Amino acid sequence: MIEECDYCGSQVICVSTKEFYGRDYGGHVWKCTGCDAYVGTHKGSKVPLGTLANKELRKLRNQAHALFDPYWRKGHMSRHNAYRKLSEFMNLPKSETHIGMFDEYKCRKVIDGFTEFMGKGEAQ
Ligand SMILES: [Zn+2]
Repeated sequence: MIEECDYCGSQVICVSTKEFYGRDYGGHVWKCTGCDAYVGTHKGSKVPLGTLANKELRKLRNQAHALFDPYWRKGHMSRHNAYRKLSEFMNLPKSETHIGMFDEYKCRKVIDGFTEFMGKGEAQ
C-alpha cells in the first residue's frame, strides 16, 4: 500500500511487528529499505496509520498526539468533537485531520497553537 519512500524514493516493505520490534504487537510496519522512515498499522491490519515518517517527524507526531489526545481521552469532550476542533484549527477537511498524516509543518502548528486555540474556544 506504500510503494515508495517520500524521503529517499527507496522501496517500502511491509513487515510484522515481530520482525520489526522483535516483539509481536499484532500489527505490521511499513518500512523504507533505504532510510529509517517507517509507519505502523492498526492491530491485525496492513493498512498504514498514515504516511511514512522519519525520526524527526515521528517525534513531532508523538508530541502532537500527547498534546491532543488528552482532550478526548480524559473525557473533556468526545473524540468526535476533539477532531472537529482540530480540523477547524488546522483548516483541513475532517478526512485529512489525522495526526498520522501530518507533515512536520502541521505537527508544529498543533504543538505551537492548539492548546491556546482550545482555551479560546467556547465550552463544549
Ligand atoms: Zn526512505
